[in-house]
Amino acid sequence: TFLLQFFVGGNWKCNGTKDSISKLVTDLNSSTLEADVDVVVSPPFVYIDQVKNSLTDKIDIAAQNSWIGKGGAFTGEISIEQLKDIGCKWVILGHSERRHVIGEDDQFIGKKAAYALSQDVGVIACIGELLEEREGGKTFDVCFRQLKAYADVVPSWDKIVIAYEPVWAIGTGKVASPQQAQEVHQAVRDWLKTNVSADVASKTRIIYGGSVNGGNCAELAKEEDIDGFLVGGASLKGPEFATIINSVT
Ligand code: PEP
Repeated sequence: TFLLQFFVGGNWKCNGTKDSISKLVTDLNSSTLEADVDVVVSPPFVYIDQVKNSLTDKIDIAAQNSWIGKGGAFTGEISIEQLKDIGCKWVILGHSERRHVIGEDDQFIGKKAAYALSQDVGVIACIGELLEEREGGKTFDVCFRQLKAYADVVPSWDKIVIAYEPVWAIGTGKVASPQQAQEVHQAVRDWLKTNVSADVASKTRIIYGGSVNGGNCAELAKEEDIDGFLVGGASLKGPEFATIINSVT
């Protein structure tokens, strides 16, 4: 049994306005949240400063992306140094929308993760298979390949949270069953044990993402190797996000 501190992230993606975000922050600030849960929210870059200046300091900020190295002549990119400057402690990397909509590959994502960690910014390292990969029996192959791309380059695992997000479950309303999620989480932990170390396997949080909501979080949270959640749609509703945070068991 692993007794790791629960970790819940809210990925707001490319949603929100100054007004809607102000309301969401107000709702989060007035929610009662379990004390022993690490909580982060991930606003669009342009609203990070607004959120940082208004949100309870019990919740940290994660960026939704970062550049692969030090800033400079990289039009349109945001550097880790800038993210640190405005108070981000974490960054989400390898999200399926970056992989499959934007076209980022394992190596590019690995570079971003290595650089963020080298600058002491934590990484929510996403992995997960497409529907056709699951149906083709390739779920473990894909997840292990994506994990290896991180493992090959990261300087340490102290500030990595792994997010298993089956792509077929993201934004679809089709949540993985607790058994489907647990099976992959356990396989990921075993992979870490074999390929990194027993210590890293026992200390690394493995969180689940993909259509988590206030109604399905409690059952998922009971699984031994589910150490929290990465939440998209339901994180845009303050009270529901609080329910998910408080589903810790
Ligand atoms: C996500 O994008 O990380 C995610 C899990 O989205 P949703 O909860 O909306 O499926």
